[in-house]
Formats: sequence, structure tokens, C-alpha cells
Amino acid sequence: MSNKQRKAAALISGGLDSLLAAKVMIEQGIHVEGLNFFTGFCVEGHTHAIRKKDKAKPKRNNALWSAEQLGIKLHIVDIVDEYKDVLINPKHGYGANMNPCLDCKIFMVKKAFEWISKNNFDFIITGEVIGQRPMSQRKDTMPVVARKSGADDLLLRPLCAKNLPETRPEREGWVDREKLFDFSGRSRKPQMALAKEFGFSDYASPAGGCCFLTDEAYSRKLVDMWEARGDREYEMDDIMLLKVGRHLRPRDNFKMIISREEGENRFMEGYRKQFIHMAATTQPGPLVLIDGSNISDDDLELAARITARYGKGKSLDFVEISIKKPNESEYLLSVNPMPADEVPEEWHR
Ligand code: SF4
Repeated sequence: MSNKQRKAAALISGGLDSLLAAKVMIEQGIHVEGLNFFTGFCVEGHTHAIRKKDKAKPKRNNALWSAEQLGIKLHIVDIVDEYKDVLINPKHGYGANMNPCLDCKIFMVKKAFEWISKNNFDFIITGEVIGQRPMSQRKDTMPVVARKSGADDLLLRPLCAKNLPETRPEREGWVDREKLFDFSGRSRKPQMALAKEFGFSDYASPAGGCCFLTDEAYSRKLVDMWEARGDREYEMDDIMLLKVGRHLRPRDNFKMIISREEGENRFMEGYRKQFIHMAATTQPGPLVLIDGSNISDDDLELAARITARYGKGKSLDFVEISIKKPNESEYLLSVNPMPADEVPEEWHR
């Protein structure tokens, strides 16, 4: 082993695997700093805190929490803009939903490679395990990530390194290959045992995905938004709003985002200036944002009837709905709430 202390950048997602991989390296005397890439689709941060059903989960950013457990510096890198091309044009396609995992991994490792080159670090580590994920973590795709990212043999996966060809950090004696692991497959048992050995108990749910793009309902809403707009562009607000509310598209030119509870209501209030929005005035009910183009009075009347249907006044003959367009005065419309059986399944996104 050489004497110089070597430095590694660890991709930290907030999950158990990346936590363990970094810890394994720290145990070998490597100076480790974490990189966490923010794509806009990450299941982290404030969106955790919106819904009641998530209230039991600790409201923390798991990447920051991991870094704290490890006692390392974490660099959060905003890749929102650059990530658009990865998501819109993935060379290796999508996984089960809209998750471009292989291209995403290549992109993140490429960014990490640029980072280590600039910051004088020696190599990159990830928590990848062969066979753990169907797309990006297969024996045949692991070399693809190393090659196409440009990192080549400066990319070390401590949890499954023994199943892979030797990398430069191993060859040069920066790390001891014998003390690396040979985990493979979907079982989480070896990781859990290792976590126990290291004294980690409060880690993020091992099965939890790190990104909304692996979620079927989220992906469906994303595709619906692209199809309705006729192009695949998106802004940060668009992808945030896909995470909240019930999404209904009664007509091709607009959709309704209907809050399902108080927490979502409050979150959506922040978007009132940008969208036409409506809510019942006399009975409790949801806040509704209207996202679309060329919205007519007839469209708004239909939306108001649907809004009334999701409020407490749904069985009344008439409900008063306030409607407000950006930069215009609010007005009231008295509507007959739409009966539940007139809201067809195909409106739901
Ligand atoms: S789950 Fe999301 S963040 Fe993770 S590799 Fe796949 S696309 Fe990237």
C-alpha cells in the first residue's frame, strides 16, 4: 500500500448502499467526500413533508443524513438543466417507467469524473451492486457506465468489486481488494448485516427508490403533460406539481390539479399567481389549479363543477366556486356539482 492518503468522491443518494460503500472506503483510510446530484426528481427534501401519510417518516434529506453519519463533507450538485437531455433523449432507453437509469448513471459518474479531475481527487466510488437494479446495475451494464462516463477504471464499487475486474485503486494498492465485497443479486441481507456491523440502524428504507421517475403514477403524469403540450420540455415547477394532487384531464386543452388534503392545499397555494385557480367559497373543498391553454368560459364551468364534486358540498344542488385568473379579478360561479359517475376513469392521470 502506498503511504499517500488517497481521496475518493462517493456518489451519495441517501440510500443504504451508497452509505455502506463510503464507509468501507473510510475504514480503509481513504479521504472520502460525498457528491449528491439534484435532478429535480429526487425523492428527498421538502416534498416528503407535504402529505399526511408520510408524516411518520423522518423529514430529513437522507443524503445529508448519510454524510453526517459518515462524518464527511457533502457537495450537492444541481444538475436540473443538464439532466433534461438525459431524461428526454436517453440513448439506452427507459426502465419499467420513465426512469432512464443507465443514461442517468453514466451522466452522474461523468459529472463525478469531471469533479474529481477538477478537485484533485483520485477515484470515484458508488454503492452499486450487481443485479440489484434491472437496468443500470447488471454485470453487462456496469462496464458501460465506467466506459461511457469516461471514468474507466477509476470507478470502484466497493460492495461488489470482487465480482468485477480490478480497478486502478486496487491495482495500485490505494485500497485493499481483499477487504472489498462480492455482493450480488436483489437480496438486501448482506447490506443489512454490514450496516449492523458498522452500527447503522436508522438508514432510509432499503427498498425505497431514490427518484420519482421509477414511480408508475408519476411517470404517467409526466407523459400526459408532454403529450398535451406537444413537446417534452419541462420546468422545475412542472415536475414539482406532478408530485402533488389528483390530476384530471377533462379536455385535451387543460388539466386540473386537485389538492387531496390540507398539506397539498398549502403547497399548491404557492402556485396561485401562475395558474388559473378555483375553490368552493361556502363549503370546505380542494384548491384546484388549471394547467392548459386557450381555456374558455365553458372549460372553466366544467372545471368548477368538478371542483364542487370533490368538496364537502358535492351533494348540494348548487355550490359557489371562486375563479381567479392570473392578473385578473376573482369572480364567482354557482354550479351544479358533477355527480361522481360522470367523472370517467379516463380523465384520471
Ligand atoms: S432511479 Fe432515478 S436517479 Fe436513480 S439511476 Fe434511475 S433515473 Fe437515476
